Amino acid sequence: MKAFDTVVVGAGVIGSSVAYHLAKKGLNVAVIERGDIASGTSSSCDASLLICDKKPGIDTKLGYESIMLYKKYAQEFSYDFEFAQRGSIYVCETEQELEVAREYAKAQADDGYPMRMMDKHEIHEVEPNLADDLVGGIWTECDASATPMAVAFAFIEEAKKLGAKVFTQCPIKGIKLDEKGHVEAAITDKGEIKTKRIINCAGVWSPEVGKMVGIDIPIKPRQGQILITERTFNIVNRKIQEFGYMLSKFEDVNYTRKVSELVEKHNVAFVIEPTLSDNCIVGSCREFVGYDRKNDIEVMQALAERAIRFVPILKDVNVIRAYAGLRPWVVDHLPIVSGVEEVPGFYIAAGHEGDGISMAAITGKLMSQIVVGEETDFNIDKLSFSRFKKAKTATN
Ligand SMILES: Cc1cc2nc3c(=O)[nH]c(=O)nc-3n(C[C@H](O)[C@H](O)[C@H](O)COP(=O)(O)OP(=O)(O)OC[C@H]3O[C@@H](n4cnc5c(N)ncnc54)[C@H](O)[C@@H]3O)c2cc1C
Repeated sequence: MKAFDTVVVGAGVIGSSVAYHLAKKGLNVAVIERGDIASGTSSSCDASLLICDKKPGIDTKLGYESIMLYKKYAQEFSYDFEFAQRGSIYVCETEQELEVAREYAKAQADDGYPMRMMDKHEIHEVEPNLADDLVGGIWTECDASATPMAVAFAFIEEAKKLGAKVFTQCPIKGIKLDEKGHVEAAITDKGEIKTKRIINCAGVWSPEVGKMVGIDIPIKPRQGQILITERTFNIVNRKIQEFGYMLSKFEDVNYTRKVSELVEKHNVAFVIEPTLSDNCIVGSCREFVGYDRKNDIEVMQALAERAIRFVPILKDVNVIRAYAGLRPWVVDHLPIVSGVEEVPGFYIAAGHEGDGISMAAITGKLMSQIVVGEETDFNIDKLSFSRFKKAKTATN
């Protein structure tokens, strides 16, 4: 195989976006993917592009800037990735949740993001199928959705137009370093690719690729399961989540919900969104079960139970499909988007947990800026790989 300026490992939403943005900078790019395009987590997830579930600060900034890029790319790209901007609602079950939600929405609005509270009357007016006893929620105007596999295909299509080459069924098997420890080549089943740069975009499998250059990447798979309902009339009009989702995602130990043992056991928080064809995507749980990508009947039961609590009419709707995916989890819930000091020429764009679809567009752009040595659009020190070394040193 010939030489390339840069080799991107993995063609999920992140690798595809990185490849596109690098090709746009004029680099000669190869993407090598173990399976097919979007055959990892990017084909077993929801379809949301959100800021409503992000922490104030860099987390929200990444989500917001990404949505803005998607909006632009939806106009420019030839492959339709089904971008739709319908806003989102976080629903609260109790006055206590509403109190926390108010503080959160205020912090985000103070930072300039389009978030505001909705009262009981307003949430039911815009979403008439929500349970009567829900007390209110947060409205986030900029939130959107896109079909994740189509996002990956769209980025790949555009990258190819700019000259990128894509090799599927082509796992990376090893990485050759020169005598100074600089990246020299990617070794694959199909031969060796000479390159000075490798970008590791292998999601939950990126630790395997990290081992090839002798580094430990602290990403763990955090499983989530999804139910897909039959086509119906539009049961909901946009993404809706329970505010408890926020607390489940960030493992807030100070807050307990009144839920069944089953829901508690599997850390289930209700999320729902309509597809363009009026199926509903219903989720989800968050569990550490290794690399297990199988559905579990007990978890599916818990998902259905929680969904019916928020949208009672769902008890009359059939589930036609279910799947499980693995979120690339990092302990501080922020992705790694950076070079690796110890291995010149080796970069990581991975660890987006439940936000990889939302953040793919901006991740690709930032990574392309890092690679060509430009100043990044905003400060991303918090996304550096070296933060883990610093944290270790601080605790020793
Ligand atoms: C249930 C669930 C719901 C979710 N909902 C949302 C949501 O609504 N919004 C959102 O923003 N995010 C969501 N996420 C998170 C999102 O799906 C992920 O963050 C995102 O898909 C990660 O993309 P990725 O490209 O990093 O990883 P992947 O899509 O897993 O891509 C990595 C690729 O690397 C390839 N690979 C692995 N090893 C090798 C190797 N040795 N050589 C070559 N290739 C290799 C794999 O085959 C794979 O294709 C959800 C996740 C789950 C599980």
